[in-house]
Amino acid sequence: MSRVERRLYCTASDAAAPTPFSGYAGPRVGVLPSVMRKSNQKPEANQECGRLTGHLPYLARQTDSIVQTIRQLVEIESPSDNKPAADRLAAVLAAKFAALGGRPTFHRATTRGDHLQVDFDGKHAGKPILLLGHYDTVYPLGTLRAMLCRMADGRIWGPGVLDMKSGIALMLAAIEALRAAHGGILPRPITVLLVSDEEVGSASSRLITEGLAKQSAAVLVLEPAYGLHGALKTARKGVGEYTLRVTGKASHSGLDFEKGQSAIVELAHQILALSKFVDLKRGVTLNVGLVTGGSRVNVVPAEATATLDVRVASNKDAAGIDRKLRALRPFNRKCRLEIGGRINRPPMERTAGVAQLYRKAAEIAHQLGWKLAEAAVGGGSDGNFTAGLGIPTLDGLGAVGEGAHAAHESVVIAELPRRAALLAGLIEQA
Ligand SMILES: [Zn+2]
Repeated sequence: MSRVERRLYCTASDAAAPTPFSGYAGPRVGVLPSVMRKSNQKPEANQECGRLTGHLPYLARQTDSIVQTIRQLVEIESPSDNKPAADRLAAVLAAKFAALGGRPTFHRATTRGDHLQVDFDGKHAGKPILLLGHYDTVYPLGTLRAMLCRMADGRIWGPGVLDMKSGIALMLAAIEALRAAHGGILPRPITVLLVSDEEVGSASSRLITEGLAKQSAAVLVLEPAYGLHGALKTARKGVGEYTLRVTGKASHSGLDFEKGQSAIVELAHQILALSKFVDLKRGVTLNVGLVTGGSRVNVVPAEATATLDVRVASNKDAAGIDRKLRALRPFNRKCRLEIGGRINRPPMERTAGVAQLYRKAAEIAHQLGWKLAEAAVGGGSDGNFTAGLGIPTLDGLGAVGEGAHAAHESVVIAELPRRAALLAGLIEQA
């Protein structure tokens, strides 16, 4: 069925009176278009559209259960740096996905929680869709005591609720809805990967993520949506961390001042030179976030170090800034420079594959009665790795809310059903 045809079946102009969500007392999340069969329509096409719009009322009725799942996941704390705590949550998640017919596999990690992969068979063979996320949070164990998981003002609040325990609950809800709509079997194979170290750079999970992405038709990342309008993320900057170490020569600042070579003065010159690498128009930023140096106030400093956070919007600029950093030379020839580090996450560029996936998502959202926007963001995620391999990747499919990594972290409950319906639709159609 062509896009034009599908529009015919599902335009909002066909909409009758808004369908009330039975058994759901919360705010309404949109007007459901009625799906009227016209004489010139193909029955299977109509069935696909009807099923898609059917996911929303089904999921709206599941809202309480989605919220309960989120609450349960938030209340099992899972900081990236605490393996026993993280493993506890991974075991609970494995059981939840297994209850929906998935086959869980743990990728053992020594210092991080075990990474969880779950495979689901589908009615039709072919490459699976990879649902990607992480179950670790930035919050140390015990945060929950001060930052209670609670419901208020139409939101659910708590550590990691937005980034991204709600995203995991949405995966579960979408898979359940698809099983319900397709007679207990998924329309296509799905692989779920939940890693335990995303918040600390994904060093132990990166190869697993990349390996599974290469075998998949597309990657859907359940990181939080962008902003309260819930935009998808179709471009993310690449992220790098570098260390610039300067070695000079120490001397007594009173007796032998002229014999010293100040590493701090050299580093100061370097920092000013580095600031010229920033190109806001191209999306290149470089932040000297940490500076250390010197030993005592009366010693000409022999050591100084700067740590830099580098962000780039394109692979070309990633290579360019790396080259520039490695080409730095000392202003004071008697000082020595050492540069370490690299671009850790490549940029997620809005390739043709990404744009096509976004258009599909926007079309599904339109059928569900809402206008879905897209955004380019500065932060990186594991979606950067999969997009970097050229696999069509769509990010920001998770919950809508505010305050990731902060005390006011929260998720808008009324948005949950349509986010899950969008995900279900994408799994069917992407
Ligand atoms: Zn995240």
